[in-house]
Amino acid sequence: MALYAELHRHLGGSVVPRILWRYFHRSGSEWSEQFAEYPEFEDFYTRPRKTLDEYLELHTLVEKTQTLDTLPYFIYRLIRGAYVFENLAYLELRYTPYLRTPEEYSQNDRIDRMAAIVEAVGQASQNHNYSIITSQILCTHSRLPDEVNRAIVELAAQMPEYVCGIDLAGGDAHYGDRLSELIQLYEYARSLGLKTTGHLYETHEGCYPELLPYLMRIGHGIQIPLHYPHLLPQLARQGQCLEVCPTTYLKTGTLDDLSELKIVFDRCFDAGVDIAICTDNAGLHNVRLPFEYENLLTLDIIDFEQLQACQDASFRHAFAWPYPEHPASLLTGLLQNEPNPNLTPALT
Ligand SMILES: [Zn+2]
Repeated sequence: MALYAELHRHLGGSVVPRILWRYFHRSGSEWSEQFAEYPEFEDFYTRPRKTLDEYLELHTLVEKTQTLDTLPYFIYRLIRGAYVFENLAYLELRYTPYLRTPEEYSQNDRIDRMAAIVEAVGQASQNHNYSIITSQILCTHSRLPDEVNRAIVELAAQMPEYVCGIDLAGGDAHYGDRLSELIQLYEYARSLGLKTTGHLYETHEGCYPELLPYLMRIGHGIQIPLHYPHLLPQLARQGQCLEVCPTTYLKTGTLDDLSELKIVFDRCFDAGVDIAICTDNAGLHNVRLPFEYENLLTLDIIDFEQLQACQDASFRHAFAWPYPEHPASLLTGLLQNEPNPNLTPALT
């Protein structure tokens, strides 16, 4: 029996279209009038966008619905789906807590309210009957002020019971003007003992080698093997792992065809750089993790052995997986042992 780890999933993009559409109708949202029937909504919600920025606009639609009151509703359904349909044993959920606080409040008030959001996400992630280990990654954001980003980093350090690391999100084309500020932000995070990932080398505009030394994992990073392969030995030496999310690159217009990922996987395997295959926004894409795996196999981008290597890498690079082994090896040992007569139903 295989159980998987998901390292890169956004809370905003994790709501599958049917759950969101039903929520709009149950809550009497204006969206329920615009999309009276489900198929039109699914088409609107999941269709590819031309650029990463246009794609990220959709996140704001979901962020506005995810408030302190509604988060348990969405997270319960997310965990249920991840357990039943995706065989997840481990899930790192990422989001920007500031963007779940009420817009009408002042910046300081919104900062003060972030801890309650992290607490609500943490409680909802643990308060269910599904056996999944979860933790949160708090996303700093390329379009938020430095003061807010530093408060997010501090909050991550203050709530280790719920938070396992920090991320940098918001579109990697917007880092350039703030590079020294972002470097200081990561230095601050590392000084607090936080684990780090960051959206980097996702698109042509997001290639900043200056940020690489601060990251334990790289969110996407596909431009490195595609266009800067000379950096791969450095990544291998530092034990950095790429979080590759195949469907995203089609939805954002970053790649024209998934076959381009064959170069990404081949060059990383050759250089000894680990890859964790992830979904990024499983709900927004309407593509769950096992289908990402199957798709890569079907397209001959990787073989089964390479898939297993990536699945193992996901557990090795997980920030909060508490065991030395991945769960499949624990279960295999259990299932291959001599049957215990006390556990075997008597034949009559
Ligand atoms: Zn992402």
